[in-house]
Amino acid sequence: MQTQLFIDGRFVPSLSGETLATLNPHDNSVIADVSMANHADIDRAVAAAKAAFPKWSNLAAAERGRLLLKLADAIEANADRLAHLESIDTGHPIRDTRYLDVPRTAATFRYFGGMADKFEGSVIPVEQGFLNYLTREPVGIVGQVVPWNFPLMFTSWKMAPALAAGNCVIMKPAELTPLSSLAIAELMAEVGFPAGVVNILPGLGHVAGQYIAEHPEIGKVAFTGSTAVGRKIVQASSGNLKKVQLELGGKGANIVFGDANVDAVVQGSAFGIFHNQGQACIAASRMIVHESIADEVLEKFVALARTIRIGDPLDPTTEMGPLTSRQHRDRVLSYVDVAREQGGRVIAGGRSPDNAALANGCYVEPTIVEAKPTDRVSQEEVFGPFMTVTTFSTDEEALAIANGTEYGLGAGLWTRDLQRAHRVAREIHSGMVWVNCYKRVSPGSPFGGVGASGYGREMGFEAMREYTQAKSVWVNVDAQIPPYFPR
Ligand code: NAP
Ligand code: MG
Repeated sequence: MQTQLFIDGRFVPSLSGETLATLNPHDNSVIADVSMANHADIDRAVAAAKAAFPKWSNLAAAERGRLLLKLADAIEANADRLAHLESIDTGHPIRDTRYLDVPRTAATFRYFGGMADKFEGSVIPVEQGFLNYLTREPVGIVGQVVPWNFPLMFTSWKMAPALAAGNCVIMKPAELTPLSSLAIAELMAEVGFPAGVVNILPGLGHVAGQYIAEHPEIGKVAFTGSTAVGRKIVQASSGNLKKVQLELGGKGANIVFGDANVDAVVQGSAFGIFHNQGQACIAASRMIVHESIADEVLEKFVALARTIRIGDPLDPTTEMGPLTSRQHRDRVLSYVDVAREQGGRVIAGGRSPDNAALANGCYVEPTIVEAKPTDRVSQEEVFGPFMTVTTFSTDEEALAIANGTEYGLGAGLWTRDLQRAHRVAREIHSGMVWVNCYKRVSPGSPFGGVGASGYGREMGFEAMREYTQAKSVWVNVDAQIPPYFPR
């Protein structure tokens, strides 16, 4: 297991010698002490990236792609080890890390490996006699700051398009979950990424993260995390006017119309809110259900929630693991009181499981709360296995509730009415909409939000645009330009 900073192709301790323990949220035991980067370490990484950039950005795009494809293969060859590491560091059930997180990470590196030499510029039809063409150039050195909820997957979402486009990367994983990204660094070195192209530096947000956002030689910062920290990133980036990309919080509306297939709603919504213990920016955290079927939906949904198998993430039968930290578990549980204070009714869960074997871990039962759309629990991101339920009577009312938060990341709707599906999808303020499903993602499909959920898109061609700058070149082929100052 790697626990040091990855700078210039090697694992090195931080210059200060500072370390921080990373814990297993199943029992809060220490897994390892991990080096913590400070300003001087980031300066070293920036110098390494700067030295690597000319050669890397001028390498044939197909060669950059080939390394990303080799990395995808290496990830698959190491799937069991990576899944284990991710499960003990984050608390994700092994069935998820092994069959979702690891394959998706490999798939994203592979997708952008294939993309590298297929992302083209264009020729613009301007006036006769001129050739105007557009090329896409890498930004240069890119800073990437990521959260703890999908640390392995986010290495691929962030690094793959940046590298395919020819940038060099300085990544700061979350202090709670640094291990899987360091394991990816190890594989990158093995498959032959040149030194300095990728640097991974665990560190504290307000120290290392803040410095990456401020750094005068970093040309872009891509951030995934909370809206509050997103605002700080924007401020810190203003010194050298960096490009900024923000994937922030969400409060996913999940609208269930009266004509929906109830069994599909129950399964899809449970995946939407309870997968990864609800620690997903795109979690289906607000069910907005038509009054005509609310009782039936809730009865089945609560019955399912009560049978979800909570336990040790390494047990292959576990369906929900612990939250990723004790502090976060306490924050999620505090929202149960917040709900009650405003008249909310707890229908299921609302506490840690009554199981001695899990007593030292960060566990929370699947929680369902009936609440008004204006209640804090319906407005604020809880980021846990915590779903609010509200009923509605007309489509307009459902839309007003769905659009009634500051966020706009993902939203879902369930109906058999084709026109309604498309109409409501059009009217929802969000970056992603799922119809009769929830929380689908793919490396080719743009991912991101509007409003307080941030700006910019990961995945697909959109991501390649985000990690490049357009350059427009005008060539006078045979145009006769009348003199502007005739003499
Ligand atoms: P967070 O507190 O915003 O932290 C995210 C990252 O930013 C961590 O690496 C953190 O470092 C770092 N950081 C903290 N303060 C910073 C500062 N002043 N300057 C620069 N970096 C700083 O978020 P979180 O609680 O870890 O993650 C949960 C949030 O992420 C939720 O709001 C969730 O919705 C959001 N999220 C969004 C998406 C999306 O794609 N839209 C995806 C997943 C999660 P430390 O680890 O040291 O705190
Ligand atoms: Mg941990």
